Amino acid sequence: MRYKLVCFDVDGTLIDELTYIWDIIHKGIGIDKLIVAKAMERFYNGEITSREWAEHDINLWVERGVTKGDLIDLVKKLKLMEGAMETLLELKRRGYKLAVISGGLDTVLNYFIPDAERLFDHIMINRLFFGMNGKITGIEPTEFGADGYKAEGLEKIALKEGIRLDECVFVGDSDNDIEVARKAGLGIGFNPHEKLSKACDIVVKKKDLREVLKYID
Ligand SMILES: [Mg+2]
Repeated sequence: MRYKLVCFDVDGTLIDELTYIWDIIHKGIGIDKLIVAKAMERFYNGEITSREWAEHDINLWVERGVTKGDLIDLVKKLKLMEGAMETLLELKRRGYKLAVISGGLDTVLNYFIPDAERLFDHIMINRLFFGMNGKITGIEPTEFGADGYKAEGLEKIALKEGIRLDECVFVGDSDNDIEVARKAGLGIGFNPHEKLSKACDIVVKKKDLREVLKYID
């Protein structure tokens, strides 16, 4: 086997019908777009850290008393990517380590893949906390959700596994996957946005995750 670990993005890769889950929830609960855009801009300008950015956005939900049930109602209309479970189980059967590096939310990943914690050897994602009444109380933000930082995340995972970056495969769809797709030994763009497709070794243009299996040896 040339590769030893396969790492997936979540939003738009393992889960279909979305680009960024944060946008869906902000929109679904009626958060002012400008407030959200301003925080994002401050992060990309280096004025706030990724933790501060995540905490800022999550506070908008906490203030409104958003519950786990509200989140699930909003994500119900999305679906697990076609062929996702078959692909993950087949890679596992072949002996690859599996990982997730995402700027999304654990609640959403676990809704679509209830046994995610067992299936994946490494999960880097934002983790939400809920109170007794189901209300969101806070977040443990991932440091590795944004472009550039995802590449750092993969480096960290490779180091833990004692493997090289060129033994890692990364599968993603969006602009925040560019650097990590470049750093991985094999970068697969899965129905990728235009900028990402230029950074990838392989581009898959079919909404079926099983399509990636033939490139992973
Ligand atoms: Mg994505």
